Amino acid sequence: MKVGVLGGGQLARMIALAGYPFGIRFIFLDPSVGACATTLGSHLHGDYQDENLLAELAKRADVVTYEFENVPAKVANFLESHTSVYPPSKALAVAQDRLVEKNFLNDLGIPTAPYQDIISFDDLQKASEKIGYPAILKTRTQGYDGKGQSVLKSAADLKFAWEKLDGLAAIVEGFVTFSREISIVAVRSVSGELAFYPLSENVHKDGILRVSESRDNDPMQAKAEDYATRLMTALNYVGVLALELFEVDGELVANEFAPRVHNSGHWTIEGAETSQFENHLRAILDLPLGSTAAVGHVAMVNFIGGKPENEKVLEIPNAHLHLYGKAPRKGRKIAHATIRAKSIEELEPLKNRLIKLADDTDDS
Ligand code: AMP
Repeated sequence: MKVGVLGGGQLARMIALAGYPFGIRFIFLDPSVGACATTLGSHLHGDYQDENLLAELAKRADVVTYEFENVPAKVANFLESHTSVYPPSKALAVAQDRLVEKNFLNDLGIPTAPYQDIISFDDLQKASEKIGYPAILKTRTQGYDGKGQSVLKSAADLKFAWEKLDGLAAIVEGFVTFSREISIVAVRSVSGELAFYPLSENVHKDGILRVSESRDNDPMQAKAEDYATRLMTALNYVGVLALELFEVDGELVANEFAPRVHNSGHWTIEGAETSQFENHLRAILDLPLGSTAAVGHVAMVNFIGGKPENEKVLEIPNAHLHLYGKAPRKGRKIAHATIRAKSIEELEPLKNRLIKLADDTDDS
Protein backbone atom coordinates (compact mmCIF):
# COMPACT_ATOMS: atom_id res chain seq x y z
CA MET A 1 0.00 0.00 0.00
CA LYS A 2 1.38 3.39 -0.97
CA VAL A 3 0.05 6.75 0.27
CA GLY A 4 0.79 9.92 -1.69
CA VAL A 5 1.11 13.14 0.30
CA LEU A 6 0.97 16.69 -1.04
CA GLY A 7 3.58 18.42 1.08
CA GLY A 8 6.67 17.05 2.76
CA GLY A 9 6.83 18.98 6.04
CA GLN A 10 6.58 17.78 9.61
CA LEU A 11 2.92 16.77 9.37
CA ALA A 12 3.69 14.54 6.38
CA ARG A 13 6.69 13.20 8.29
CA MET A 14 4.60 12.25 11.33
CA ILE A 15 1.96 10.63 9.08
CA ALA A 16 4.74 8.52 7.52
CA LEU A 17 6.21 7.58 10.91
CA ALA A 18 2.75 6.35 11.96
CA GLY A 19 2.34 4.35 8.75
CA TYR A 20 5.63 2.45 8.86
CA PRO A 21 4.49 -0.16 11.43
CA PHE A 22 1.64 -1.03 9.04
CA GLY A 23 4.07 -1.49 6.17
CA ILE A 24 2.64 1.55 4.37
CA ARG A 25 5.01 3.27 1.95
CA PHE A 26 4.94 6.95 1.06
CA ILE A 27 5.51 9.28 -1.83
CA PHE A 28 5.69 13.04 -1.21
CA LEU A 29 5.21 15.87 -3.68
CA ASP A 30 7.03 18.95 -2.43
CA PRO A 31 8.91 21.78 -4.18
CA SER A 32 11.74 22.02 -1.64
CA VAL A 33 14.79 19.77 -2.02
CA GLY A 34 15.30 19.11 1.68
CA ALA A 35 11.62 18.80 2.71
CA CYS A 36 11.81 17.02 6.05
CA ALA A 37 9.44 14.11 5.31
CA THR A 38 11.23 13.04 2.18
CA THR A 39 13.82 10.87 3.94
CA LEU A 40 10.86 8.59 4.76
CA GLY A 41 9.70 7.91 1.22
CA SER A 42 10.05 8.78 -2.45
CA HIS A 43 10.19 12.45 -3.31
CA LEU A 44 8.53 13.96 -6.36
CA HIS A 45 10.38 17.22 -6.50
CA GLY A 46 8.57 20.11 -8.13
CA ASP A 47 5.66 22.48 -8.17
CA TYR A 48 2.28 21.48 -6.69
CA GLN A 49 0.60 22.68 -9.87
CA ASP A 50 2.74 20.62 -12.25
CA GLU A 51 0.18 18.30 -13.87
CA ASN A 52 2.80 15.78 -14.96
CA LEU A 53 3.97 15.38 -11.36
CA LEU A 54 0.40 15.26 -10.05
CA ALA A 55 -0.44 12.54 -12.58
CA GLU A 56 2.66 10.60 -11.52
CA LEU A 57 1.69 10.96 -7.84
CA ALA A 58 -1.82 9.70 -8.62
CA LYS A 59 -0.42 6.78 -10.61
CA ARG A 60 2.14 5.67 -8.04
CA ALA A 61 -0.04 6.10 -4.92
CA ASP A 62 -3.13 4.07 -3.99
CA VAL A 63 -4.62 7.08 -2.23
CA VAL A 64 -3.57 10.72 -1.95
CA THR A 65 -3.82 13.01 1.07
CA TYR A 66 -2.27 16.35 2.00
CA GLU A 67 -0.68 18.11 4.93
CA PHE A 68 -1.82 21.69 4.25
CA GLU A 69 -5.12 23.26 3.24
CA ASN A 70 -3.93 25.80 0.70
CA VAL A 71 -3.99 23.24 -2.08
CA PRO A 72 -5.43 25.08 -5.11
CA ALA A 73 -8.90 23.76 -6.03
CA LYS A 74 -7.58 23.06 -9.54
CA VAL A 75 -4.95 20.69 -8.11
CA ALA A 76 -7.39 18.85 -5.84
CA ASN A 77 -9.90 18.47 -8.69
CA PHE A 78 -7.19 17.19 -11.04
CA LEU A 79 -6.09 14.59 -8.50
CA GLU A 80 -9.69 13.58 -7.75
CA SER A 81 -10.25 12.85 -11.42
CA HIS A 82 -7.29 10.39 -11.32
CA THR A 83 -7.44 8.68 -7.90
CA SER A 84 -8.97 8.67 -4.40
CA VAL A 85 -8.15 11.91 -2.57
CA TYR A 86 -8.98 12.43 1.11
CA PRO A 87 -10.10 14.73 2.68
CA PRO A 88 -12.44 15.75 -0.19
CA SER A 89 -11.73 18.89 -2.22
CA LYS A 90 -14.92 20.50 -0.87
CA ALA A 91 -13.30 20.64 2.59
CA LEU A 92 -10.31 22.47 1.11
CA ALA A 93 -12.48 24.92 -0.78
CA VAL A 94 -14.38 25.81 2.40
CA ALA A 95 -11.40 25.93 4.77
CA GLN A 96 -9.15 28.05 2.59
CA ASP A 97 -11.50 31.04 2.40
CA ARG A 98 -12.48 32.57 5.76
CA LEU A 99 -15.67 34.08 4.37
CA VAL A 100 -16.89 30.82 2.80
CA GLU A 101 -15.84 28.96 5.96
CA LYS A 102 -17.74 31.26 8.34
CA ASN A 103 -20.86 31.16 6.13
CA PHE A 104 -20.62 27.36 6.04
CA LEU A 105 -20.25 27.06 9.84
CA ASN A 106 -23.16 29.42 10.50
CA ASP A 107 -25.40 27.57 8.03
CA LEU A 108 -24.75 24.43 10.10
CA GLY A 109 -25.78 26.24 13.28
CA ILE A 110 -22.19 26.47 14.53
CA PRO A 111 -21.72 29.96 16.03
CA THR A 112 -18.80 32.20 15.01
CA ALA A 113 -17.74 35.74 15.90
CA PRO A 114 -19.73 38.39 13.98
CA TYR A 115 -18.05 39.08 10.63
CA GLN A 116 -18.43 41.00 7.41
CA ASP A 117 -16.61 40.88 4.10
CA ILE A 118 -14.68 43.91 2.94
CA ILE A 119 -13.98 45.06 -0.57
CA SER A 120 -13.38 48.76 -0.05
CA PHE A 121 -12.08 51.13 2.63
CA ASP A 122 -15.62 52.38 3.01
CA ASP A 123 -16.76 48.78 3.77
CA LEU A 124 -14.01 48.50 6.35
CA GLN A 125 -15.11 51.69 8.12
CA LYS A 126 -18.79 50.70 8.13
CA ALA A 127 -18.17 47.08 9.21
CA SER A 128 -15.80 48.06 12.04
CA GLU A 129 -18.32 50.61 13.29
CA LYS A 130 -21.08 48.00 13.22
CA ILE A 131 -19.10 45.16 14.78
CA GLY A 132 -17.42 47.46 17.29
CA TYR A 133 -13.83 47.75 18.55
CA PRO A 134 -11.65 45.86 19.09
CA ALA A 135 -12.07 43.92 15.88
CA ILE A 136 -9.72 41.88 13.68
CA LEU A 137 -9.10 42.34 9.98
CA LYS A 138 -8.16 39.03 8.34
CA THR A 139 -7.32 38.20 4.74
CA ARG A 140 -9.84 35.72 3.35
CA THR A 141 -7.15 33.40 2.05
CA GLN A 142 -3.52 32.44 2.76
CA GLY A 143 -3.74 33.21 6.47
CA TYR A 144 -2.24 30.87 9.04
CA ASP A 145 -0.41 31.22 12.36
CA GLY A 146 -1.85 34.74 12.69
CA LYS A 147 -0.47 35.86 9.30
CA GLY A 148 -2.54 38.35 7.32
CA GLN A 149 -4.24 39.69 10.46
CA SER A 150 -4.43 43.16 12.02
CA VAL A 151 -6.07 44.02 15.31
CA LEU A 152 -8.23 47.15 15.03
CA LYS A 153 -8.33 48.88 18.40
CA SER A 154 -10.03 52.02 17.12
CA ALA A 155 -10.89 53.89 13.92
CA ALA A 156 -7.33 55.26 14.01
CA ASP A 157 -6.00 51.80 13.04
CA LEU A 158 -8.11 51.42 9.90
CA LYS A 159 -5.94 53.26 7.37
CA PHE A 160 -2.74 51.38 8.16
CA ALA A 161 -4.54 47.99 8.30
CA TRP A 162 -6.22 48.69 4.96
CA GLU A 163 -2.93 49.62 3.28
CA LYS A 164 -1.29 46.48 4.69
CA LEU A 165 -3.95 44.38 2.96
CA ASP A 166 -2.53 45.52 -0.37
CA GLY A 167 -5.72 44.75 -2.27
CA LEU A 168 -6.33 41.26 -0.84
CA ALA A 169 -9.94 40.29 -0.13
CA ALA A 170 -10.65 40.34 3.60
CA ILE A 171 -13.18 40.07 6.40
CA VAL A 172 -13.56 42.02 9.63
CA GLU A 173 -14.55 39.96 12.63
CA GLY A 174 -15.42 40.81 16.20
CA PHE A 175 -12.78 40.24 18.86
CA VAL A 176 -13.87 37.33 21.05
CA THR A 177 -13.09 37.75 24.76
CA PHE A 178 -12.70 34.06 25.39
CA SER A 179 -11.92 32.31 28.69
CA ARG A 180 -9.88 29.70 26.82
CA GLU A 181 -9.09 28.35 23.38
CA ILE A 182 -9.79 24.70 22.67
CA SER A 183 -9.84 22.43 19.66
CA ILE A 184 -11.39 19.12 18.90
CA VAL A 185 -9.50 16.68 16.74
CA ALA A 186 -11.97 14.37 15.08
CA VAL A 187 -11.71 11.61 12.49
CA ARG A 188 -14.12 10.05 10.00
CA SER A 189 -13.34 7.03 7.85
CA VAL A 190 -14.35 6.17 4.29
CA SER A 191 -17.10 3.97 5.79
CA GLY A 192 -18.38 6.88 7.89
CA GLU A 193 -17.02 5.65 11.26
CA LEU A 194 -16.46 8.62 13.58
CA ALA A 195 -14.14 9.15 16.53
CA PHE A 196 -13.14 12.15 18.67
CA TYR A 197 -10.11 12.83 20.82
CA PRO A 198 -10.45 14.41 24.24
CA LEU A 199 -10.38 18.20 23.80
CA SER A 200 -7.10 20.05 23.47
CA GLU A 201 -6.72 23.26 25.47
CA ASN A 202 -4.46 25.60 23.51
CA VAL A 203 -2.29 28.61 24.25
CA HIS A 204 -1.32 30.88 21.35
CA LYS A 205 1.14 33.76 21.31
CA ASP A 206 1.25 36.19 18.38
CA GLY A 207 -1.24 33.91 16.60
CA ILE A 208 1.06 30.84 16.82
CA LEU A 209 0.23 27.75 18.87
CA ARG A 210 2.68 27.35 21.79
CA VAL A 211 1.15 24.78 24.16
CA SER A 212 -1.61 22.18 23.86
CA GLU A 213 -2.88 20.11 26.74
CA SER A 214 -5.28 17.16 26.68
CA ARG A 215 -8.51 17.69 28.59
CA ASP A 216 -10.15 14.41 29.42
CA ASN A 217 -13.84 14.59 30.50
CA ASP A 218 -14.06 18.29 29.69
CA PRO A 219 -17.54 19.81 30.14
CA MET A 220 -17.34 21.21 26.58
CA GLN A 221 -16.54 17.82 24.98
CA ALA A 222 -20.10 16.90 23.95
CA LYS A 223 -20.80 20.29 22.37
CA ALA A 224 -17.51 20.23 20.46
CA GLU A 225 -18.23 16.70 19.21
CA ASP A 226 -21.67 17.81 18.05
CA TYR A 227 -20.16 20.69 16.03
CA ALA A 228 -17.42 18.50 14.55
CA THR A 229 -20.01 15.87 13.57
CA ARG A 230 -22.19 18.45 11.81
CA LEU A 231 -19.16 19.73 9.92
CA MET A 232 -17.76 16.36 8.87
CA THR A 233 -21.15 15.01 7.86
CA ALA A 234 -21.92 18.08 5.73
CA LEU A 235 -18.56 17.78 3.97
CA ASN A 236 -18.79 13.97 3.60
CA TYR A 237 -15.39 14.20 5.22
CA VAL A 238 -12.73 11.50 5.34
CA GLY A 239 -9.58 11.81 7.50
CA VAL A 240 -8.62 13.85 10.55
CA LEU A 241 -10.10 17.33 11.01
CA ALA A 242 -9.42 19.89 13.74
CA LEU A 243 -12.05 22.43 14.74
CA GLU A 244 -10.65 25.43 16.66
CA LEU A 245 -13.03 26.96 19.18
CA PHE A 246 -13.21 29.77 21.72
CA GLU A 247 -15.02 29.20 24.99
CA VAL A 248 -17.14 32.19 26.00
CA ASP A 249 -19.45 32.07 29.03
CA GLY A 250 -19.89 28.30 28.82
CA GLU A 251 -20.63 28.42 25.07
CA LEU A 252 -18.42 27.55 22.10
CA VAL A 253 -17.66 29.92 19.24
CA ALA A 254 -15.88 28.46 16.21
CA ASN A 255 -12.78 30.20 14.90
CA GLU A 256 -11.78 27.96 11.99
CA PHE A 257 -11.20 24.35 11.01
CA ALA A 258 -8.22 22.60 9.49
CA PRO A 259 -8.95 19.74 7.06
CA ARG A 260 -5.86 17.80 8.11
CA VAL A 261 -3.88 16.51 11.04
CA HIS A 262 -3.24 19.40 13.39
CA ASN A 263 -0.59 20.79 15.71
CA SER A 264 -3.05 20.75 18.62
CA GLY A 265 -3.30 16.96 18.16
CA HIS A 266 0.43 16.20 18.39
CA TRP A 267 -0.01 15.18 22.04
CA THR A 268 -1.95 12.13 20.80
CA ILE A 269 1.32 10.45 19.73
CA GLU A 270 2.20 9.64 23.34
CA GLY A 271 -1.06 10.68 25.00
CA ALA A 272 -3.72 8.63 23.22
CA GLU A 273 -4.17 4.95 22.50
CA THR A 274 -3.99 5.71 18.75
CA SER A 275 -2.36 8.89 17.43
CA GLN A 276 -4.11 11.35 15.11
CA PHE A 277 -1.57 10.38 12.42
CA GLU A 278 -2.35 6.67 12.61
CA ASN A 279 -6.08 7.34 12.68
CA HIS A 280 -5.78 9.62 9.65
CA LEU A 281 -4.20 6.73 7.75
CA ARG A 282 -6.78 4.25 9.04
CA ALA A 283 -9.57 6.62 7.96
CA ILE A 284 -8.33 7.22 4.41
CA LEU A 285 -7.50 3.51 3.91
CA ASP A 286 -10.93 2.53 5.27
CA LEU A 287 -9.50 0.51 8.14
CA PRO A 288 -11.26 0.33 11.53
CA LEU A 289 -10.42 3.45 13.56
CA GLY A 290 -8.26 3.04 16.65
CA SER A 291 -9.29 4.08 20.15
CA THR A 292 -8.92 7.81 20.80
CA ALA A 293 -8.86 7.33 24.58
CA ALA A 294 -6.31 9.46 26.44
CA VAL A 295 -3.40 7.74 28.15
CA GLY A 296 -2.69 9.91 31.19
CA HIS A 297 -2.52 13.72 31.18
CA VAL A 298 -0.47 15.18 28.40
CA ALA A 299 0.97 18.52 27.33
CA MET A 300 2.75 19.42 24.11
CA VAL A 301 5.09 22.38 23.75
CA ASN A 302 6.25 23.76 20.40
CA PHE A 303 9.82 24.87 19.74
CA ILE A 304 9.71 27.80 17.36
CA GLY A 305 12.65 29.41 15.59
CA GLY A 306 15.10 27.71 17.94
CA LYS A 307 15.23 24.78 20.33
CA PRO A 308 16.99 23.80 23.53
CA GLU A 309 19.78 21.22 23.65
CA ASN A 310 18.25 17.76 23.35
CA GLU A 311 19.67 16.81 26.76
CA LYS A 312 17.80 19.65 28.46
CA VAL A 313 14.49 18.26 27.20
CA LEU A 314 15.30 14.62 27.75
CA GLU A 315 16.36 15.08 31.37
CA ILE A 316 12.74 16.06 32.20
CA PRO A 317 10.97 12.91 33.36
CA ASN A 318 8.55 11.48 30.75
CA ALA A 319 9.48 14.05 28.10
CA HIS A 320 9.38 12.91 24.47
CA LEU A 321 11.23 14.94 21.88
CA HIS A 322 10.22 15.24 18.22
CA LEU A 323 12.73 16.93 15.96
CA TYR A 324 11.45 17.74 12.49
CA GLY A 325 14.82 17.84 10.74
CA LYS A 326 14.25 21.46 9.71
CA ALA A 327 16.81 24.25 9.82
CA PRO A 328 15.96 26.87 12.48
CA ARG A 329 14.45 30.02 11.05
CA LYS A 330 12.58 32.86 12.75
CA GLY A 331 8.96 31.87 13.39
CA ARG A 332 9.41 28.33 12.05
CA LYS A 333 8.14 25.32 14.01
CA ILE A 334 11.19 23.06 14.18
CA ALA A 335 10.37 20.59 16.96
CA HIS A 336 7.98 19.80 19.77
CA ALA A 337 8.09 17.89 23.02
CA THR A 338 5.33 16.04 24.80
CA ILE A 339 5.13 15.26 28.45
CA ARG A 340 2.81 12.72 30.05
CA ALA A 341 1.89 12.28 33.69
CA LYS A 342 -0.59 10.35 35.79
CA SER A 343 -2.34 13.46 37.11
CA ILE A 344 -2.67 17.16 36.27
CA GLU A 345 -0.81 17.99 39.53
CA GLU A 346 2.12 15.86 38.44
CA LEU A 347 2.01 17.26 34.90
CA GLU A 348 2.04 20.94 35.84
CA PRO A 349 5.67 21.41 37.03
CA LEU A 350 7.04 19.22 34.22
CA LYS A 351 5.06 21.17 31.64
CA ASN A 352 6.33 24.45 33.08
CA ARG A 353 9.94 23.25 32.77
CA LEU A 354 9.31 22.53 29.09
CA ILE A 355 7.63 25.90 28.56
CA LYS A 356 10.61 27.66 30.16
CA LEU A 357 12.99 25.83 27.82
CA ALA A 358 10.82 26.84 24.84
CA ASP A 359 10.60 30.47 26.00
CA ASP A 360 14.37 30.69 26.45
CA THR A 361 15.05 29.52 22.90
CA ASP A 362 11.99 30.90 21.14
CA ASP A 363 12.72 33.02 18.07
CA SER A 364 9.36 33.98 16.68
P1 AMP B 1 -6.35 32.24 13.27
O1 AMP B 1 -5.24 32.47 12.28
O2 AMP B 1 -7.67 32.73 12.83
O3 AMP B 1 -6.39 30.82 13.76
O4 AMP B 1 -5.97 33.09 14.57
C1 AMP B 1 -4.83 32.82 15.34
C2 AMP B 1 -5.10 33.18 16.77
O5 AMP B 1 -5.44 34.57 16.88
C3 AMP B 1 -6.25 32.46 17.42
O6 AMP B 1 -5.89 31.18 17.88
C4 AMP B 1 -6.58 33.42 18.56
O7 AMP B 1 -5.63 33.30 19.62
C5 AMP B 1 -6.42 34.76 17.91
N1 AMP B 1 -7.70 35.17 17.30
C6 AMP B 1 -8.10 34.96 16.03
N2 AMP B 1 -9.33 35.45 15.81
C7 AMP B 1 -9.74 35.98 16.97
C8 AMP B 1 -10.94 36.63 17.40
N3 AMP B 1 -11.97 36.88 16.56
N4 AMP B 1 -11.01 37.05 18.67
C9 AMP B 1 -9.99 36.86 19.55
N5 AMP B 1 -8.83 36.25 19.21
C10 AMP B 1 -8.70 35.82 17.94
